[in-house]
Amino acid sequence: MMKPLTIAIDGHSSTGKSTLAKALAKSMGYVYVDSGAMYRAVALFALRKGWVSKENGCDAVAIESTLDQVQITFELDAAGVNATFLNGQRVEEEIREMAVSHVVSHVAKLSEVRRYLVALQQAMSRNGGVVMDGRDIGTVVFPNAELKIFMTASDDVRAARRKAELDFKGQDVTFQEVLENLKSRDKADMERSDSPLIAAEDARTLDNSTMNREDQFELVLGWTQSLLV
Ligand code: C5P
Repeated sequence: MMKPLTIAIDGHSSTGKSTLAKALAKSMGYVYVDSGAMYRAVALFALRKGWVSKENGCDAVAIESTLDQVQITFELDAAGVNATFLNGQRVEEEIREMAVSHVVSHVAKLSEVRRYLVALQQAMSRNGGVVMDGRDIGTVVFPNAELKIFMTASDDVRAARRKAELDFKGQDVTFQEVLENLKSRDKADMERSDSPLIAAEDARTLDNSTMNREDQFELVLGWTQSLLV
């Protein structure tokens, strides 16, 4: 049998990376890891401590010196759903709230935070058989991944999708606020000096502005299977 693959999915915010990654992992019997959830959990930790705000950025020293107090795990919750836990507490919904979205890119800029999380991420794929989505998976976390995908879509399409998701969860937010958050996160993620968001040279680009989920899944499953023959 062939060695299971490592699949890296990077791209702009709200391009459907995690939806695609989850579906692919499920169909291949691979582990799915949401690296963004890990940055969001550190951001939530810092937010609760009062060490980060949208306007003023973050207290890098305070955050970087307490990372040993931040334990992030993915566990099955009481309902059997795989969820993000911060220091033993389920935070799956809280990390997706706008309060966290507004500050996460400040925290994700910090090199110590990145080093800490990248080591955890790498430990989750010792033997392949993983689909991980994020911003630096194909460039930094798994530069030798067999399949790298870079996802993008137009701003309006992404904001509309994200708004629909937040509406569904009952979060009260305007289209404009969602659009501005996406753009400012992308800008911060692309301009940071440590591990900026950029397509790996060997990544396949997937612009899904006019594609539905099923077509994306079929395309990417085809890419995956072609690497296994
Ligand atoms: O994927 P998601 O949108 O939940 O990620 C939230 C934020 O976490 C991103 O905007 C980015 O600032 C940061 N992130 C990162 N590197 C990753 C994954 C996420 O910097 N691999």
